[in-house]
Amino acid sequence: MNSIAKPRVAFFDFACCEGCQLEVLSLEEQLLDMVELVDIVTWREAMSEKSDDYDIAFCEGSITREADIERIKRIRETADILVSLGACATIGCHNALKNQFSMDEVLHIVYGDRAEWFDTIPARPITAVVPVDYQVNGCPASLPEFVTVFKHILMGKEYKPPNQPVCVECKLKDNLCVYEKGLLCLGPVTRCGCDAICTSYGHTCFGCRGLVDDPNLNAAQDVLAKYGLSVEEIVGKFKLYNNWPELSLGEGRTDA
Ligand code: SF4
Ligand code: SF4
Ligand code: SF4
Repeated sequence: MNSIAKPRVAFFDFACCEGCQLEVLSLEEQLLDMVELVDIVTWREAMSEKSDDYDIAFCEGSITREADIERIKRIRETADILVSLGACATIGCHNALKNQFSMDEVLHIVYGDRAEWFDTIPARPITAVVPVDYQVNGCPASLPEFVTVFKHILMGKEYKPPNQPVCVECKLKDNLCVYEKGLLCLGPVTRCGCDAICTSYGHTCFGCRGLVDDPNLNAAQDVLAKYGLSVEEIVGKFKLYNNWPELSLGEGRTDA
């Protein structure tokens, strides 16, 4: 096969822990199958070579500096297809926690008396700055979803992320609801697609895949009320991953 005909793929990172790229690297044998189909031309975490000529860009991390905005716009202009890889790139993730402070305060907390050496802006996902063609959700990015998105790109097909709450997958697995164990869970309003992996192992869902498009907030409030809980008790937990844009879970019922 003529390698020139293969799509050229680049991986880029913005502010993040780079765990999503590590996840992709851990695909190992599947990764070898993938490089039969594409040429990976830039991937700082995995190789020394780099190129400014690519067709598909997988972008991890959040936008946290003015320079990031220019950089992601350049990547968007170059790539035919841009993918947000993981929660930092898709929903803001932990990076957006800093947005509840002033940016001056953030700089001084992190850099102390050298704060003026650095610049920062409120953190936002890549999806808030440039149009994105595909998204891979999760923290870290879901590998099955990454492979699905990869296949859809190569087939030229649209990919629509699953749009039901995690509770659906959790119930299909016959899990005991963690609310019965006195724990808080964000599954009722969180986008599924992870096979309810956390609740299946007895943990709670922290909402790392973001809100479903049209969360049933009334039903979520009913669940909370059943266990003597309020929205206020759950919003803080939700903000761990979902702090961009400002959450509105605290607003009143829509069926009142
Ligand atoms: S989504 Fe999670 S694992 Fe991926 S880069 Fe962000 S913090 Fe790291
Ligand atoms: S609230 Fe959590 S534990 Fe309960 S069914 Fe939904 S996802 Fe599962
Ligand atoms: S169960 Fe919740 S926190 Fe766990 S992977 Fe799924 S969406 Fe993320």
